Amino acid sequence: VPDTTALDELAGLVGPAGVLYPGDGLDAYEDPARGAPGRARAVVRPTTTEQVRTVVGWARRHRTRLLPQGANTGLVGASVPPPDGDGGVVVLSTERMVHGLEIDAANRTAVVPAGVRLSALDDAVAADGLWFPIDLAADPTIGGMAATNTGGARMLRHGDVRRRVLGIEAVLADEGVTVVDDLSVLRKDNTGIDLSSMFIGSSGALGIITRVAVELARRPAQTTCVFLAPTAPDRVMAVLDALDDGLGPLLSAFEVMSAESVAAALAGVDGLRSPFGAPAPPELTILVEAAGPEGTDALLLDAVAVAVATGAATDAVVAPAHDAWRLRHALTDGLRHGGVVLGFDVSVPRSALAAFRSEVRRRAAVELPRATVADFGHWGDGGMHCNLVFPTGAPPSPSEHGLARELVFGTAVERFGGSYSAEHGIGPHNADWWRRVTPPGNQRVVRSLRTLFDPLGVLGHPDLPY
Ligand SMILES: Cc1cc2nc3c(=O)[nH]c(=O)nc-3n(C[C@H](O)[C@H](O)[C@H](O)COP(=O)(O)OP(=O)(O)OC[C@H]3O[C@@H](n4cnc5c(N)ncnc54)[C@H](O)[C@@H]3O)c2cc1C
Repeated sequence: VPDTTALDELAGLVGPAGVLYPGDGLDAYEDPARGAPGRARAVVRPTTTEQVRTVVGWARRHRTRLLPQGANTGLVGASVPPPDGDGGVVVLSTERMVHGLEIDAANRTAVVPAGVRLSALDDAVAADGLWFPIDLAADPTIGGMAATNTGGARMLRHGDVRRRVLGIEAVLADEGVTVVDDLSVLRKDNTGIDLSSMFIGSSGALGIITRVAVELARRPAQTTCVFLAPTAPDRVMAVLDALDDGLGPLLSAFEVMSAESVAAALAGVDGLRSPFGAPAPPELTILVEAAGPEGTDALLLDAVAVAVATGAATDAVVAPAHDAWRLRHALTDGLRHGGVVLGFDVSVPRSALAAFRSEVRRRAAVELPRATVADFGHWGDGGMHCNLVFPTGAPPSPSEHGLARELVFGTAVERFGGSYSAEHGIGPHNADWWRRVTPPGNQRVVRSLRTLFDPLGVLGHPDLPY
């Protein structure tokens, strides 16, 4: 645990405004979006790459763990110190690393300081008709997005962060406190091993990401949404095929929401409208978005007509894009309003989604009869937020929690060849599954990289599995 003298030294390195102490109120840095709050010894807020280097050097000298944190919207417990920690972890917040955004509109690229929020980047490039097309119901930082390889609702069209990162600058905790300078804005650059890619999805373990070069996209002239009711869960992929055939790359999102999730949102969040007007939603509601030039809406309606004519869908309604996404983004709040939610973010091959869902429901009815399954997610990418909701006032016991994890992760990974972390990276919430299913040889390679980049083990959450 760094003592007062060490913390005074830290304040000397980044200036008094650069360090916050428990007495300053650290809730925003200690309270995660999901899971239990942690306890930090202090929060250090450097402003530049050079200051990050100085802080990492300090952490090495004082053998103090630095936990990188962006907007603290991560969902696997990796962005806050442990709840039962000894208070020795210092959070390194990138919130002041926001100056020096470089935009090359003609190249459609930007070099973004790690602490810049997604919304701020989008605002900065809007005048050039551009955006960073990774879209989610939170407002993370670019550094955090790279460290977790954020997916989001438009991954089907625009890919995840990995697909849009051209280069990264990161500070290592090796002996020389090396700055990895790989900030290329080239789309084609095959000059060796791709160092930047190692930091994507690294959950803060390999280095502090200080700047990210990203590829932007043109903002679409027209965005249209439709709600569809599939004939049955195993016909959802036939609906996707019909839309793909009719729209090609104009298809930008394909989200599927269970009746339980939609009903919870309608009951718990004000101002939402039932997609099909009826009070009870269908077993599944598909939200489709098409985005592109003028005329995209007509193509979407033609493709929807094909999906209905072939018997893959029974019903379809056009919805204003704002209302459609409001409903989609209200699902989590709606579920939380109606009960205690255990949320699992998994993926399986798209072809197995309906079978996975049905198996989870079958097993939950037998093994966890107090829980309601309320799933929704990015079916176009094989992703599902598989939620088990317990009654308010009667939360899951530790053994029910354990059973729920085993049920959902086990069914996804061991039965259907899926992933126990589709989008959120690795953290204390899923570290045991990393140890359980990552091949031993791969585990050794990751640990060797970690030893090379951070031999004293001063970076990242202490409960990461590597
Ligand atoms: C309502 C809601 C909806 C969400 N929807 C999605 C979704 O659809 N898809 C999706 O993928 N995620 C989603 N998320 C999860 C979350 O928003 C992403 O994981 C996000 O990218 C995290 O960014 P952040 O800046 O908040 O990082 P943090 O939460 O602060 O940190 C996350 C991890 O990254 C590390 N880290 C942060 N900054 C750096 C840095 N500069 N250098 C090195 N490591 C760093 C941290 O140590 C930690 O391990 C959602 C979250 C919420 C609350």
